[in-house]
Amino acid sequence: MYIVQIASECAPVIKAGGLGDVIYGLSRELEIRGHCVEIIVPMYDCMRYDQIWGLHDAYRDLWVPWEGGAVHCSVFCGWVHGRLCFFIQPHSGQNYFNRGHYYGALDDHMRFAFFSKAAMEFLHRSNKRPDIIHCHDWQTGLVPVLLYEIYRHHGMGTQRVCYTIHNFKHQGIAGPNVLWATGLNNDAYYYHYDRLQDNFNPAAINFMKAGIVYSNYVNTVSPHHAWEARYSDISCGLGHTLEIHQGKFGGILNGIDYEVWNPEIDPLIAFHYGSETFSEKAKNKKALRERLPLREEDKPLVCFIGRLDDQKGVHLVHHSIYYALGRGAQFVLLGSATEPGINQWFWHEKQHLNSNPDVHFELGFNEELAHLIYAAADIIVVPSNYEPCGLTQMIGLRYGTVPVVRGVGGLVNTVFDWDYDTEHLPEERNGFVFYQPDQYALETALGRAITLYEKEPATFRELALQGMAYDYSWNHPGEKYVGIYEHIRHK
Ligand code: ADP
Repeated sequence: MYIVQIASECAPVIKAGGLGDVIYGLSRELEIRGHCVEIIVPMYDCMRYDQIWGLHDAYRDLWVPWEGGAVHCSVFCGWVHGRLCFFIQPHSGQNYFNRGHYYGALDDHMRFAFFSKAAMEFLHRSNKRPDIIHCHDWQTGLVPVLLYEIYRHHGMGTQRVCYTIHNFKHQGIAGPNVLWATGLNNDAYYYHYDRLQDNFNPAAINFMKAGIVYSNYVNTVSPHHAWEARYSDISCGLGHTLEIHQGKFGGILNGIDYEVWNPEIDPLIAFHYGSETFSEKAKNKKALRERLPLREEDKPLVCFIGRLDDQKGVHLVHHSIYYALGRGAQFVLLGSATEPGINQWFWHEKQHLNSNPDVHFELGFNEELAHLIYAAADIIVVPSNYEPCGLTQMIGLRYGTVPVVRGVGGLVNTVFDWDYDTEHLPEERNGFVFYQPDQYALETALGRAITLYEKEPATFRELALQGMAYDYSWNHPGEKYVGIYEHIRHK
């Protein structure tokens, strides 16, 4: 099959979180399975150009219909660690992708509506006719609308769309100017409960709802989160839309790229190791301690890696630091906050704990350091409020770092409690799980992990090895996505 991924990220060149990893990892898996994959992303000024090979212009004069006129764009093309990516660069005064950041601008809805329109115009003009267009999250929710309402009438009648929701929290809410700008016009038609109208704000259109309504298949990124989306408030108002479209909605667990995340060959860690050579992992702990620095003592090293925001259970992250220190463990935090309040809070904590030799805060985004922390730590905490899939627990498992997680979303599908899991045999268990979103619940799980490390090191090591034995690569998810593509292609 010929598959085009349209997304706002592709790791490692554009990565704000898990979405970037998914675009890269899934595309690679699809290629391994013999499919042809191309990726279309915006050409941001702040992306990592050092991660692109052979960047050249692929389509020089793309005129994208926009706001009643047309915007002149260039489309560049290059390889991101072997994946073929097209980068769309508009030449207009709005500087949509020259903002120094990927998200967070006041006109984000216009920026990504434009990107969706430009991606479709590029496919149309360059005569690319993929079997499947796979788009992701609110940023590209308008793609299937544009395909069905406009481009279908311009020779794109056989393309089918798979739409993957990575986070229901951000849905892309906009006013009628987006309809006018993209050429969809006809407000009365789109401002309809069955189409783009937001379920709660009748004056707004909702990009994510658009993606759900117009795509041939919709999924979120784990089976448990798909269930939560239908039966809890986690879908942030889209529950009824999902119920209406339940026949084409499901959950497919993300994978992680086993080439990128592989402690046996990872170039970013100090010492390579695998399950056969697990004792080498301890050398990474020593290397990390020297680098940060942290004191060298026989005590467990607990870590957190991720965005510091409400989704990630930031209060519980904070509590886990003090709890771990109180229990005589060490803590390393690698995280970035976009909210100024949370940012200031953690900078304050960093200064407050500055002289403590058992804790280190690295505030910012640091891909290289992340690898070393996964390899060095004994325990990784993921106390999320909600978690569509979660990659950090899977990466932790791959690196023999025992996860302590809250039982929500994809964490339920990937981590099985050492003491209390009832569905897995003891030799299949791989971490510690708590359920209530409070400090006491976190302590019961993190406490059990620290106690096992201290009192029964051999058993703790066994648990880490059991985690390493899991296959959370793209192999299974890749097969599932191919099945979905085949299914919608023949409809
Ligand atoms: P998200 O909700 O942000 O998508 P995921 O767990 O799905 O969370 O994916 C997070 C990805 O981003 C992982 O690959 C993780 O290692 C990486 N990551 C998160 N924060 C940072 C950071 N501050 N520095 C480096 N990598 C990070």
